[in-house]
Amino acid sequence: MIAKAMEPFVFGDPGIGAMFDVVAKMVAEYGEENVYNFSIGNPSEPAPEEVKEAIKAILDEEPMKRIHGYNASSSGDAGARAAVAEHLNRLHGTAFTADNIMMTVGAAGGLNVLFKTILDPGTEVITFAPYFGDYNYYVENSGGTLKVVAPNAPTFQPDAAAMEELINENTRAVIINSPNNPTGVIYSEQSLKEIGEVLARKSAEYGYAIFLVADEPYRELAYDGKVVPYATKYYDNTIVAYSYSKSLSLPGDRIGYLVFPSEIEQFDAMKKAAECAIRMLGFINAPSLIQLAVEKCVNASTNIAAYDRNRKALYEGLKGLGYDCVYPDGAFYLWMKTPVEDDGEFAQMALKHRIVVVPGKAFGCPGYVRVAYCVPFEMIGNSMPAFKDLMTEIQDNY
Ligand code: PLP
Repeated sequence: MIAKAMEPFVFGDPGIGAMFDVVAKMVAEYGEENVYNFSIGNPSEPAPEEVKEAIKAILDEEPMKRIHGYNASSSGDAGARAAVAEHLNRLHGTAFTADNIMMTVGAAGGLNVLFKTILDPGTEVITFAPYFGDYNYYVENSGGTLKVVAPNAPTFQPDAAAMEELINENTRAVIINSPNNPTGVIYSEQSLKEIGEVLARKSAEYGYAIFLVADEPYRELAYDGKVVPYATKYYDNTIVAYSYSKSLSLPGDRIGYLVFPSEIEQFDAMKKAAECAIRMLGFINAPSLIQLAVEKCVNASTNIAAYDRNRKALYEGLKGLGYDCVYPDGAFYLWMKTPVEDDGEFAQMALKHRIVVVPGKAFGCPGYVRVAYCVPFEMIGNSMPAFKDLMTEIQDNY
């Protein structure tokens, strides 16, 4: 018998899942190149060559115990953690050591470890719409509830005053995600300062730290020289969740890390609790071979220029057809206001033109869709006649 809590996922409204079934059928019928699938955040660029070279060298050079054994510390391989810390210090002028880093099973694994570390049943975590919907599961897995600040259109910067309204004695953390999935917006320094000020004031009022959790899988995907402010600089009780899924195109290798700055409340206890949490959740430690690859590849980069080219082509193409889009500064997603009110209805209409996008309600923000441009460049040009027909259909009928 499956758990009651899982029944809605198996027997309930299939939601976006239904759309994926339709897409699979369309691909079988029309061929992959004739379905414009902008729905998935799977990197279209391959992992950098350095990763392959690093893995080969590791297999040839490192002792089997280091490659395949349990890590001596649940926080991960000491060498990999030191390499990550030094890399962050070079980039951001921070002063981290291996002690501040825990290697994790992607950002998802990191966030689950963190919430197990800091949440009690009945506690709350706040985030800003639109947001990555899986946060609900990560928070609920540890008995918490996700509270969502309403979208702040048209900038989609986080609204610190609205966040303050949601804070109460049960609040344990606030999650931010920048560059943002799904908007592509980079949260400004001003936004981070305002959030930090509110959290410092409320933490002092309640007598314990409300943590800021910076979820940053898209940090390296920033365009036009835009800087993504490093959140630990604006508020002491900040924990960073990072992932190599997008920055090195390694989503299947499941590797990332948490940064616990030394300034956070109860630093030693937090580290100890996180090391228990990673075991209790069954991860034990992050995959060891790929930790060693990260150690050798901290300076490697994905082909950001390719995503940038896609970004410009998609934005210009859609704008030229009359679609209202947010110009993305980062990540590989474009956020588009739907020309009909109901984003679900728009996504269904798009499907008839073999265009697949994700309705904004999946991100807590109806009236928009997410168009993922981590796709082959040609697909963007090839899809434009379909987007044009879709717009014509809407103009003729609404
Ligand atoms: N956070 C955000 C905002 C994401 O978009 C994703 C994946 O798409 C994740 C976390 C999970 O990433 P990972 O593959 O590192 O677990």
